[in-house]
Amino acid sequence: MMQESDLEPLELDPPTSTRLGKAPATGGSDEDGALVYLGSRPTYSCANCSTHLALQDELISKAFSGRDGVAFLFHSAVNIKQGKKEDRMLLTGMHTVADITCCGCGTSVGWTYLKAFEASQKYKEGKFIIEKEKIVKDNAWTLDS
Ligand SMILES: [Zn+2]
Repeated sequence: MMQESDLEPLELDPPTSTRLGKAPATGGSDEDGALVYLGSRPTYSCANCSTHLALQDELISKAFSGRDGVAFLFHSAVNIKQGKKEDRMLLTGMHTVADITCCGCGTSVGWTYLKAFEASQKYKEGKFIIEKEKIVKDNAWTLDS
């Protein structure tokens, strides 16, 4: 006869169900993440001094290349100073551009296209490139300040 000398009593703790009375998520409801814009439109602000630089409505593309990484193309920008214009060879050909700096703190935030030499790039004339890392999206709340 086998003797199970080391048999340990197995105590099955009844699972203390700590239900929080939370209804199961019913999918796609985004209400928790809803942002309040305080009656104004969402903007992009200078990451350095929080000066508003562009309206989200004016955003054309987030798929541009800045000097150091991703940059956004905007129809317009505000609170910027335009530097002197110069011809610059960019990935998409020769352009006449001018650097733009934040009026609030003087940080160079990108450039504006004054003239595109390639017909396919003409749509960028008068538009503004602002480097992603130079701006923060201002949603009337602050994620990390
Ligand atoms: Zn600034």
